[in-house]
Amino acid sequence: KEEILGSQHKKQVGIMGGTFNPPHLGHLVMAESVGSQLGLEKVLFMPDAQPPHQATKTTIAAKHRLAMVERAIDGNSRFELERAEIDRGGVSYTYDTMVTLKQQHPDTDFYFIIGADMVKDLPNWHRIDDLLKLVQFVGVKRPEFPAESRYPVLWVDAPLLDISSSLIRQRISQNCSVRYLVPDAVLDYIEEEGLYREKD
Ligand code: ATP
Ligand code: MG
Repeated sequence: KEEILGSQHKKQVGIMGGTFNPPHLGHLVMAESVGSQLGLEKVLFMPDAQPPHQATKTTIAAKHRLAMVERAIDGNSRFELERAEIDRGGVSYTYDTMVTLKQQHPDTDFYFIIGADMVKDLPNWHRIDDLLKLVQFVGVKRPEFPAESRYPVLWVDAPLLDISSSLIRQRISQNCSVRYLVPDAVLDYIEEEGLYREKD
């Protein structure tokens, strides 16, 4: 059942930020669950240029991550690619991005969708108190992380999937199958480009 949130005349748009190294079924299931339950017009998949608090050693080139996200979301009319952070380059602070997106789209309410691991990390986010005025955070449960926060997070139920990009990278480097953990089109791309085969 689709429900309408927020003020009726504003567009309701979700944002799935991430490194997408690579995108997997966990990302797609959470975006679809939130998008359909909140009745969002769009969910924008927004790959970061450089994540603020993550080791970048194993992160592959933006062009590959963009290509994989495009393939992953292809065919879902609600999903779109958002290039703002990749095009800006440098460390991707969500606060900076959202200031820009709000200026460009004053008629839109943004729902920033994150997994429970990221919810736990919110106190460390750059200008979190200001960011909370720009977006409604939406939390999705993730195995081994508590579904709680001192911030006003809107929790949405989605099937609990113990899939991560780290797991995908590890499995590929060990020659284990990742079929059905990533979309077929993403798997084809990974194989064509020989991604994640070598250990750093
Ligand atoms: P890595 O293992 O490299 O950190 P990841 O699987 O966490 O990769 P990210 O690109 O870091 O993927 O995550 C983007 C967003 O998706 C984050 O908010 C993260 O919490 C969320 N997310 C990723 N996988 C899941 C999952 N299986 N369940 C719930 N949330 C998830
Ligand atoms: Mg992560």
